[in-house]
Amino acid sequence: MKNLNCYIHIPFCTSKCKYCRFASFSGLSQLKVNNYVDFLCKEINEFSYLKPITLDTIYFGGGTPSTLNLKQFEKIFFTLKQKFTFSEKIEINIESTPEMINLENLNGWEKLGVNRISIGIQSLNPKTLEEIARSEKGDILKCFETLKIFFKKPKHISLSIDFIIGLPFVKKGGVKKDIKYLLEKYDFVTHISVYMLEEYYDVPEEIDSKFENIVYPNSWRANSIDEADYSEEYLQIKNFLKEKGFERYEISNFSKSGFECKHNKGYWNHKENLAFGLGSHGFFENIRFSKSESFLDYYSKKNISKEKIGKEEKFLEKIMFGLRTSGIEKKYLKNLNFEKINYFCENGYLQYKDDKLALTDKSVLFLDYILKEIF
Ligand code: SF4
Repeated sequence: MKNLNCYIHIPFCTSKCKYCRFASFSGLSQLKVNNYVDFLCKEINEFSYLKPITLDTIYFGGGTPSTLNLKQFEKIFFTLKQKFTFSEKIEINIESTPEMINLENLNGWEKLGVNRISIGIQSLNPKTLEEIARSEKGDILKCFETLKIFFKKPKHISLSIDFIIGLPFVKKGGVKKDIKYLLEKYDFVTHISVYMLEEYYDVPEEIDSKFENIVYPNSWRANSIDEADYSEEYLQIKNFLKEKGFERYEISNFSKSGFECKHNKGYWNHKENLAFGLGSHGFFENIRFSKSESFLDYYSKKNISKEKIGKEEKFLEKIMFGLRTSGIEKKYLKNLNFEKINYFCENGYLQYKDDKLALTDKSVLFLDYILKEIF
């Protein structure tokens, strides 16, 4: 018996957000979606392994998985259940946009065994939402009122919401204000992810580094908060969330006790995960694999990239995942650059915490730079 996590990619969205770089497509016919679901089920069915497999998590990511109708979900669940055993405490997550949240979907997903929903909110600013081509503010508020009705009776479903720092037209303190508004009105949110438009943040002058590939319109840059304020924004949110009982357990992820995302924690702990669907990434038997983001390739099983993860790569990832989360255990530090580590510790960019080497509030957004320096 082998215990694994499982990622399933659903590459459909109702429309394409302007900042999106995920494998997602909008405006496809139901016939094409049905064909995709059929092929996905075939792919799951064709998977074979010498031992029986128990799934600890199933993560439907996208795209917007909630664009699938209940029949399509039932088909995928039926296939998964035929093929694998579901562990008693399995976490089953569906990503959704606010406009796909309705009681029919929520009740249907609950019946299928879904116990975690993550909704991309990103902002409550109407001008921002219009500019990035996301759901309207009215849709978001309607979504929360629907959730309020749904959560009136105790549920085995938990809720995560996502925000982004650095979007156009969001003023200083804007993201915190939005989170505060929702948390004070709705007490059923148990997990919050806060991401950044990566291209927008920069490092302080004393740690000079360059970030390239800025692909967003210049008008966004002109109408968003100054890069130098990113850390402050992030820290204000972190401190506010701490007051509200949300602990940071990874750079971008905050949760109430017991509501951390099991699936994502698996990635950071080198847990093996199967991956099905176009553009999906997995890790199995020390091989990282990813499937092509083209339908043609996916349907003809072409361009699946595979990379063997040897001891050295695993070590590098261990250091990176350690810094992203609670820190690196001392036993893994011996091959790193101690001169640099000491420099960062003396200048408040690294710290020893609970016997682990960890980032500090000052460096939490500059992980890539720190990593480059300490290897
Ligand atoms: S909903 Fe998500 S996956 Fe779909 S277009 Fe927007 S950002 Fe991309």
